[in-house]
Amino acid sequence: MKVLVAVKRVIDYNVKIRVKADNSDVDLTNVKMAMNPFCEIAVEEAVRLKEKGVASEVVVVTIGPKAAQEQLRTALALGADRALHIETDERVEALTVAKLLKRVVDDEQPGLTILGKQAIDSDNNQTGQMLAALTGLAQGTFASKVDVKDGTVDVTREIDGGLQTVSLKLPAIVTTDLRLNEPRYAKLPDIMKAKKKPLDVKTPAELGVELVAKLTQLKVETPAERQGGIKVASVDELIDKLKNDAKVIS
Ligand code: AMP
Repeated sequence: MKVLVAVKRVIDYNVKIRVKADNSDVDLTNVKMAMNPFCEIAVEEAVRLKEKGVASEVVVVTIGPKAAQEQLRTALALGADRALHIETDERVEALTVAKLLKRVVDDEQPGLTILGKQAIDSDNNQTGQMLAALTGLAQGTFASKVDVKDGTVDVTREIDGGLQTVSLKLPAIVTTDLRLNEPRYAKLPDIMKAKKKPLDVKTPAELGVELVAKLTQLKVETPAERQGGIKVASVDELIDKLKNDAKVIS
């Protein structure tokens, strides 16, 4: 069974986000970029399926600028077999990403397609669900366990108040939650080997998908600075401050 994994290049989660002076967008100048953490979990799961003999091939795909090939090479170093880069410098909305991924699913016919549950830059949490709708395939979102059987996959999902296990007919779409696995680090020899693994480049036009923007980003703002805390000497003083300063009780 072939496994397809969609990975996104985002700002590294350790980086403190800066906003451009005109509030038009996040400032990406000289900012460290990395693979979206939920996509790392998706790659890890696919590689584990290959190591268990369940997957025969792991293909990774990204949509983004030329620099996004770094994240594809990382995925190849982690154990993916080949990569597909759909190159564009435009901002691509979730629905367009899903349309492009549908074309890849149509071409590649993977048994399982794994995505992150969300990208930490836009926090959309939409692409996997949209891809499932466009392809008509079953979806198991927020997976904390994936168990591939004969013709089906059991997905344990993290839902409010507990876990739900669903059985999906293959081919299927899975999106990863944080507890699915702990991704490995790439080893230096594997990073070297990854440079020689196949990486194909296509444009959205070659896949017959037009990049239509339906959303306009109006402004981006940083959260309000938090005020420093104070210590109070007694419960009476606390109540007084809550009543008269913070005005949160009456
Ligand atoms: P989102 O719906 O934007 O929160 O993203 C959820 C998941 O969809 C990500 O973790 C990726 O697996 C996939 N995805 C989103 N954008 C892209 C992209 N530009 N290239 C490849 N995969 C993407």
